[in-house]
Amino acid sequence: MEMGTISAAYIASAILFILSLAGLSNQETSRRGNWYGIIGMAIAIIATILNKNVDAYGWLILAMVIGGGIGARLASRVEMTQMPELVAILHSFVGMAAVLVGFASFFDPANTLVGAAATIHNVEVYLGVLIGAVTFTGSVVAFGKLNGKIGSKPLLLPMRHQLNLGLLGLSILLGWWFLSAGHDGGTLPLVIMTLIAFAFGVHMVMAIGGADMPVVISMLNSYSGWAAAATGFMLSNDLLIVVGALVGSSGAILSYIMCRAMNRNFVSVIMGGFGTTAGGDEDAGEQGEAVAIQADEVAQLMKDAGRVVIVPGYGMAVANAQHSVSDLVKSLRSQGVDVQFAIHPVAGRMPGHMNVLLAEANVPYDIVLEMDEINDELSEVDVVMVIGANDIVNPAAMENPNSPIAGMPVLEVWNAKNVIVSKRSMATGYAGVENPLFFKENTRMLFGDAKDSVDAVKSSV
Ligand code: NDP
Repeated sequence: MEMGTISAAYIASAILFILSLAGLSNQETSRRGNWYGIIGMAIAIIATILNKNVDAYGWLILAMVIGGGIGARLASRVEMTQMPELVAILHSFVGMAAVLVGFASFFDPANTLVGAAATIHNVEVYLGVLIGAVTFTGSVVAFGKLNGKIGSKPLLLPMRHQLNLGLLGLSILLGWWFLSAGHDGGTLPLVIMTLIAFAFGVHMVMAIGGADMPVVISMLNSYSGWAAAATGFMLSNDLLIVVGALVGSSGAILSYIMCRAMNRNFVSVIMGGFGTTAGGDEDAGEQGEAVAIQADEVAQLMKDAGRVVIVPGYGMAVANAQHSVSDLVKSLRSQGVDVQFAIHPVAGRMPGHMNVLLAEANVPYDIVLEMDEINDELSEVDVVMVIGANDIVNPAAMENPNSPIAGMPVLEVWNAKNVIVSKRSMATGYAGVENPLFFKENTRMLFGDAKDSVDAVKSSV
């Protein structure tokens, strides 16, 4: 394929990716956005393969069959609750790819660049490997934290800020050594920097506490984009640069939105987040006793209510209860009850997790409200039903300055007349913080798996 045709295909792909991002920003257009992305990626892959510089078709087909096979198998088997960890591990692949491409392009015998062009290329290699290595190990640790193999408690090494600064300073010095050594002597500083960046990625994510993980996920998403952009520079591939920049900047914007939603400062998250400053001093105080309720009593409360708000959380995803919840909402609405959903920005385990589940269960978009849209109205609500949520409805965030999640905005469900909490036990949520909501006078606990509980309430309704 001629270069002109390839450039045209790349421009078409870039436009489709931008349309895809625009489509994905809204539930109603997200399916279309997904298709734009799929078509854009198909065009990009075909145009790249048909580039006349590409001749190792045997290897290419073998790699695509193996990679595509594993990807298709994983994607078809992955549970909705495992999506965040899948995304984290996919970020790590982008990071590793940037490291490998960096080394390959540094050792490439066909590389005949000299002077300023060689220096620019080496800067691209150095930065690409640096960002890629941090993304790789950071994402692997995030994967472990999300699937529970690594505890969510932050690892607080003594003098960790000085350690991070030291590693950064060392990387800059090594970069200077790498650039001045040129092609012949550059291998050693490049390898040392890669090992340092691997260690930095591990330390950075290990130091971040449970409730700050959403910011870490979006930040690693952003890093993977910059790693891809750096790879694009190394390979002189314009489309990869554009796509990397799109992913990098959208991830950065998402990190900012997440920080704002959680009332956190981005720098303080990266330096060690929730659970790191006041974690040890949490004082849940005198908790009192939680009062249980049965499904038929919940059904009666809901039928008698004028207005009901449902707050879904991670437990709804675990129990796969979204369809049961949707059925319950349908029957309540058919009996004249005004039902709405309140969605916290970090509910579940990935941005938009609850919105995706509710869309899958065909819940109408217009009754799904964001936290800011409904929080002030919760005092006018007769019944709030919390389904498998915990941290996002924890009053300690507002009432207890020593709580590890102090300052995080939460859904103030306790202001409603009645609060029903559906969960299996008194266990804590992802942040590992006790929840005084369960002991409030107007709270009743509906114990059991969320799907079973909601089904039972629905049949009584
Ligand atoms: P939480 O993790 O705080 O609480 C979920 C609750 O669901 C648990 O307390 C658990 O209690 C209950 N649960 C689990 N399984 C079931 C089941 N089968 N049936 C009924 N209940 C169940 O979830 P939230 O959504 O409230 O908060 C999200 C947390 O995750 C926040 O801390 C957030 O920072 C963090 N996070 C969010 C990310 C994001 O991007 N959204 C990414 C990474 C972390 P029990 O065991 O008693 O049933």
